[in-house]
Amino acid sequence: MSEPAPGGEAWDRVSTILRRSVPRQQFETWFRGMRLVSLGPERAELTVPNNFLREWIHRKYFGVLRRALREVSAGDPEIEIRIAADGPEPAEAAAAAPAGRPAPPGRPAPLGGHPLEPRALTYGESDVVLNSLYNFENFVPGPSNNFGYAASLAVADSPGKSYNPLFLHGSVGLGKTHLLQAICHRLMDRRPDMRILYLSCETFTNHFVTAVANGELDSFRFRYRHVDVLLIDDIHFLANRERTQEEFFHTFNTLYNANKQIILSSDSNPAEIPTLEERLVSRFKWGIVARIDQPVYETRVAIIARKVRMHGVEFPDEVVRCLAENVRSNIRELEGAVNKVAGMAHIYSRPVDMDMARETLRDLIPPSSVRVSIDGIIRTVAEYYSVPVRDLMGKRRTKSIAYPRQICMFLARRLTSHSLEEIGGYFGGRDHTTVMYAYDKIRREVEQDGELSRTLELLKSKITT
Ligand code: ADP
Ligand code: MG
Repeated sequence: MSEPAPGGEAWDRVSTILRRSVPRQQFETWFRGMRLVSLGPERAELTVPNNFLREWIHRKYFGVLRRALREVSAGDPEIEIRIAADGPEPAEAAAAAPAGRPAPPGRPAPLGGHPLEPRALTYGESDVVLNSLYNFENFVPGPSNNFGYAASLAVADSPGKSYNPLFLHGSVGLGKTHLLQAICHRLMDRRPDMRILYLSCETFTNHFVTAVANGELDSFRFRYRHVDVLLIDDIHFLANRERTQEEFFHTFNTLYNANKQIILSSDSNPAEIPTLEERLVSRFKWGIVARIDQPVYETRVAIIARKVRMHGVEFPDEVVRCLAENVRSNIRELEGAVNKVAGMAHIYSRPVDMDMARETLRDLIPPSSVRVSIDGIIRTVAEYYSVPVRDLMGKRRTKSIAYPRQICMFLARRLTSHSLEEIGGYFGGRDHTTVMYAYDKIRREVEQDGELSRTLELLKSKITT
């Protein structure tokens, strides 16, 4: 049979079949720029904007494409995919992206720009789907992460120009992935011209291993070395992988020398990643190395407040404080605790209170010792500091009384389930802000003062026996 009607309706039918056969995102990434020039039972002619797409379609999608073309043409056409006349050739593509400069507008960016959706990170190959909540707006800065946060913002605002590479490290659950993705979001919003590649080190490693096994190193290199921003999460995964390290070394050099931004995260600082080659260690330190620490109490409170708002539930202050006190080292866990409590509130259509939080988070929150009475606390503290009970319960403000009284309030808050108002009532009818103030003051002191912490332990053990 001779040439049938090209493009138009035939392509609509082919693309409908393709859409059914591959996930939407993949269709958008790989087939959006494809054109059907002609289609008959013996021959199909298509174009794509660049060689990279052609190669990839040949490798990954040839089967689905062939099935679709067969179905629509009612034959078994020989398939030819050409580069569209207005698309750049690869050699040109490489040259068309000089250091740090975006591709000229109105013209397809080489490799991965138009016609790919800007959101199709990494040409659809990344293993990571960006979490839309991991943006800068949702990140709570504090003393523990300020440096990494500020550096991430700077890099997102002027990639390749401020700090290169940016190396974020810290233990698990402290916000490294969140910051990396926040950089991606911001770049995608503000610099749609840029080619951003964000992936885990594990994926990089797997791609590399596969490329070696299939003799496809050229296309692997082409892919990784033609980006404007490369973000690799959990780079410590390179430990003990000599060949991948070697490959990454060259990727790094190529990008770095072209002023392309490199951003890495790791669970430890470069020098402490076991078996990491010295030349990589030193390169990782060329730019900025920012450590993320465990958040301090105030940051934990702010993070909880932020997560609570997202759930549209109210948490009483005492629940927020209780969570902040008991979950210290991992923000993911903190978030998990908030989710559980908010989940309970939704399921039972009940407002959140301390009992519900305790019940839901039995493994995180130590049980309150209901048997402890405030009277018991006052007697024990009075004896320890040699002050009269009635002074502790009265109005006197001299330091020798005020301090033990604050200790009493602190312990009452920690060891009983009385409300702030109730506690205030025991101490000369003071109001809840006074109790709160005392509580916060002692809590801060305990964190810094080992002696005080031992004293409190001693008092607690006297009170509870
Ligand atoms: P990491 O990659 O360091 O293991 P993540 O980035 O996955 O940690 O963070 C764990 C969770 O904690 C995520 O849900 C993240 O949104 C949240 N998180 C971490 N740090 C913050 C922060 N400063 N503000 C708000 N949420 C945070
Ligand atoms: Mg992570």
